[in-house]
Amino acid sequence: NRKYRNTVIAANWKMNMLPSKIKAYAEELKPLAAPAKWCDIVICPPFVMIPAAQKAFRDSRISIGAQNLNENESGAYTGEVSSEQLSDLGAHYVIIGHSERRQLFGETDITVNKKVHAALQANLRPIVCVGETAQQREMNVTEELVTLQLKAALAGVPATKMRRIVVAYEPIWAIGTGNTATAADAEAVAASIRAVIRGLYGARTARAISILYGGSMNAKNAFELLSQPDVDGGLIGGASLVPADFAAIINAAN
Ligand code: PGA
Repeated sequence: NRKYRNTVIAANWKMNMLPSKIKAYAEELKPLAAPAKWCDIVICPPFVMIPAAQKAFRDSRISIGAQNLNENESGAYTGEVSSEQLSDLGAHYVIIGHSERRQLFGETDITVNKKVHAALQANLRPIVCVGETAQQREMNVTEELVTLQLKAALAGVPATKMRRIVVAYEPIWAIGTGNTATAADAEAVAASIRAVIRGLYGARTARAISILYGGSMNAKNAFELLSQPDVDGGLIGGASLVPADFAAIINAAN
């Protein structure tokens, strides 16, 4: 499948780390990650640390992303950050619609869609997050729910822009809990996401899109998850904060 699409391993640092610690993190990670030439590696720090991360990873293949953006172009939005500001800084990716943003900060399928358009407008690559709660999984509505989230997120995205998008399947019950989805469950939902993209954009686009799994991925379970045919990478929270752990996941993506 690497013939058709890139493997993407992305770190979501959430509200962790300190600007003064980035250099040491980068110096440790860079040599460990250097052998993984087939893999796109992305670090998503909090906004304020993006410049320091850019600087620390400048001499590497590791790209920088943001964890959020505001959907408006510019103007009176105190405390917010725009897509153009991120792209002007040199960020390449942006996480959109993470479940923590949806649950804690009121983001909806509508705002997620607006943010996807804002990101694409500024040439950022959106990492669009979808995923079900534990109750939704019990009710057996996971695939319908994820399909709805995905279709809403992609509304109005033209085929020419679709290939810039990365999708992350993150079951909410697996995030930060140590309760990783089984490889079979991750594969089933990733395959259903690819089927939705196929329905909307056709087979060639569908096979070119990288679909990530996120939710307690770690050095131990990464290999099995990343070996699934439709799981093309990972979005990693906790285990991305320790360079050796994150590097082990990167190197499991072989
Ligand atoms: P986790 O977080 O790896 O700590 O479960 C993943 C995420 O929320 O993106």
